[in-house]
Amino acid sequence: MGRTHRSRQRRAPKSITHPADHELHSLHVLYGQLNGLGWRNETQLSALHFPQTRRGLCSKRQGFRAGDELIRLPADCLISISTLESDEKFKALFNKDLFNKDERLSFQALVACYLMHQQHLHDTSKQSAFSAYLDTLPRSYTMPYFCIKSELQCLPEALLERIVAQHRQLSENYQIIKSLVGTQQCECCGLLYCEDIWTLADYKHAYFTVNSRSVYLNPRLLKAERSHFQSLLSGNTNLALAPFLDLFNHSDSVQTTAELQLSKSGKGHDYVLVMEAAAKPELQPYEQLFISYGALPNLKLLTDYGFYLERNTHDFFEFSLADIEHFIAQNRKTSSQTYHRNIFKFIREHNLYDQMFVHIDDGCSHNLRVVLHLIFKQQAYFPNILNQIAFGDAVQFVDVQPELSFLVAHKISEYRDYVKALNQLSQLTESGAVARDYLLECVRYLRDFESVHCQSSE
Ligand SMILES: [Zn+2]
Repeated sequence: MGRTHRSRQRRAPKSITHPADHELHSLHVLYGQLNGLGWRNETQLSALHFPQTRRGLCSKRQGFRAGDELIRLPADCLISISTLESDEKFKALFNKDLFNKDERLSFQALVACYLMHQQHLHDTSKQSAFSAYLDTLPRSYTMPYFCIKSELQCLPEALLERIVAQHRQLSENYQIIKSLVGTQQCECCGLLYCEDIWTLADYKHAYFTVNSRSVYLNPRLLKAERSHFQSLLSGNTNLALAPFLDLFNHSDSVQTTAELQLSKSGKGHDYVLVMEAAAKPELQPYEQLFISYGALPNLKLLTDYGFYLERNTHDFFEFSLADIEHFIAQNRKTSSQTYHRNIFKFIREHNLYDQMFVHIDDGCSHNLRVVLHLIFKQQAYFPNILNQIAFGDAVQFVDVQPELSFLVAHKISEYRDYVKALNQLSQLTESGAVARDYLLECVRYLRDFESVHCQSSE
């Protein structure tokens, strides 16, 4: 275990700073509350501010190698389905008679309600069991979802699509919450739910808190005594909020595992994170400790978590059929040609537009190659012949290099225009600034792809 390679106490490098006083205070209270629930902080983790990520975790005393535990947090510290099921006041807000099997709620949305519930207790009576945790949560988020209208107008389709999907999901769930809770008045203060408290703005914030900070959890190991919410929920309940543990930032250069294990005392479970592999053989005290949220590309990191990684090893760049159509319309050579609509119909019917991406190491994906070939390199438009071509010998798709190069170049110029448009706005919100920097990272990625895979272009 980690203790065997404890190093001598070191000083923190100058670039690493302590959080501001109010944050330090909340963290201190959080340590105390989690300690009361059985957490021993065996790896001596501290939350500090690092130059690249701002807040993050390190150990001031201990070094870490592959196989070491990063944290062992008792399951009682988590906000999981069993927390919600054992909270009588919270359950009382959701009248089972109103549950409708056609209008179910995602578990994520219900946990968001729980956060709003605790926040209101905290605001009105300081009685929330999770007060310290609530105080350590970010006040605002940087997903493109929170971009203002003028910024949204400068974002590419690929981002807008995700934002629209998030809007739809959020408002559908909020309508259901409103129909269940909205007419009630709060016992403590008489305020009306979903009007004065649990407002849409509160809900959005809580929803993205859950979206970006929850951990995966096998709920079968947590005995939820009764199941008040069972007939309300769609999908599974395999996520939980993990106070303090959620301060670990993500890196693409580490591998970590997370699982519920029987606690050492034999009573209950611990949520245990283990570092399986890292970029270096040993991490020194004061070096930030990262975990892996999964092998996620930047688009996913940005839209769900509000950040991206430079030179993310899991990144790729995806194209849509609309991208190819735009490219055809704007390119002088291709726009003068006609493309039989059967070809586009065939591509859509066979889902060939799915998985059309470029990858810096692997080149052009199979589907992108097939689609470019079908559109630009063959004359047939009868479905049976298209079938033979699309699902026949893969070797014949190698001839799409010029089209691929044009497409990549087209995308680079399009993204540069979006960046330019964002830069022309008088001011960017934090979400807008992160989105702009993400677009620049996409341009960098595509430029690198171009230099490796499209030598003959331009
Ligand atoms: Zn109240």
